[in-house]
Amino acid sequence: MINFLNYKEPFGLYIHIPFCKNKCNYCDFYSLKTCKNLMDKYIDNLKEEIKLYSNNLDVHKIKTIYFGGGTPSTLSSKSIKEILKTITRNFVVINKEIETTIEANPESLDKNKIISYKQAGINRISLGVQSFIDKELDFLGRIHDVEDSLNTIEIIKNYFDNYSLDLIFAIPGQTFKKFKQSLQQAIKINPPHISLYNLQIEEETPLYKKLNKNEIERISEDLDYKMYNYAIKQLTTNNYNQYEISNFAKKGYESKHNLTYWNYKPYLGLGPSAHGFNGSNRYYNIQDIKSYNKEISNCNFPVEKIVKLSKKELITERMIMGLRLNKGINIKEFKNRFGISIFDLYGNKINKLKKENLIKEDNEKITMTKKGLNLGNLVLAEFLLE
Ligand code: SF4
Repeated sequence: MINFLNYKEPFGLYIHIPFCKNKCNYCDFYSLKTCKNLMDKYIDNLKEEIKLYSNNLDVHKIKTIYFGGGTPSTLSSKSIKEILKTITRNFVVINKEIETTIEANPESLDKNKIISYKQAGINRISLGVQSFIDKELDFLGRIHDVEDSLNTIEIIKNYFDNYSLDLIFAIPGQTFKKFKQSLQQAIKINPPHISLYNLQIEEETPLYKKLNKNEIERISEDLDYKMYNYAIKQLTTNNYNQYEISNFAKKGYESKHNLTYWNYKPYLGLGPSAHGFNGSNRYYNIQDIKSYNKEISNCNFPVEKIVKLSKKELITERMIMGLRLNKGINIKEFKNRFGISIFDLYGNKINKLKKENLIKEDNEKITMTKKGLNLGNLVLAEFLLE
């Protein structure tokens, strides 16, 4: 059996909370409707999963903790406290102040919850605002409105200096003017971190069905680029550093947990449909919560699949993750990690993309240009090794 447990260095800890009050029209993540009994049972099993890893790993040091979902803020502060307590009893945090993030939606937070999350040990909130236009929120199937978002942000600001707002752009029907309005509202609030994703219409979602029936239309590529470039310009002017394709932060407020993924460092993932990576192998947890619960009750790891990544796969993933970052791929570090020069492997591709002004190179690193960032995945696909 492939050893997915041999972690060799401190890692990020991801905890999946697969519950939402409602399913958004664009979402294809695994999530279930909130239900107290189901959630309580899940929390008990999650604590068992934490202990199971603690009993079987050699390395117990955690660098960051991240509650993702689903909507983790559907959990009570009591549950969050219990989970964090189980983590600190079974693992060692590298320092007292490690970044501990919870993803939240505006309708599931109030002042008491925000205060008690903080008391429980949460020190960063990532808030799914998505848009500051009610009509767009309606279209996306979100169950909060702009007023909810503004009220929630006001409270968060009073208790957390580290928080992030998530925005979506390229929404069918969205005009440039409306996007500008949303972005300007976010900038006015002045959060230390903003994530900005263009809407992906995934198969099997209500939006995809509408698209197929020609009831909605994707916005044009030109408008998509125009919105993205406008955002980069506005955010940069307002002292946000674009440290990743979709992420912008004031100095010192970059997401340490997400940087673990982009820097291709190890992480442990817990909960149904979560996955983990120890630097050479990746494991995937069972998605279905009933099967997950059953495995945990039998003291088994709820793992469905373990993949030993080949050297080619490791290199490809390293390139794709690293180029998403503004700091790009460090040429020396690449050679140290893989024992081969990046130019021996990708020399022709690098020259071609440089000529097309999609990437640039200095003595230390390879990074994407502004034009490359705009084309994002098309450029990254060039680094797939056959
Ligand atoms: S809140 Fe997030 S995870 Fe839940 S349905 Fe909406 S997009 Fe999906």
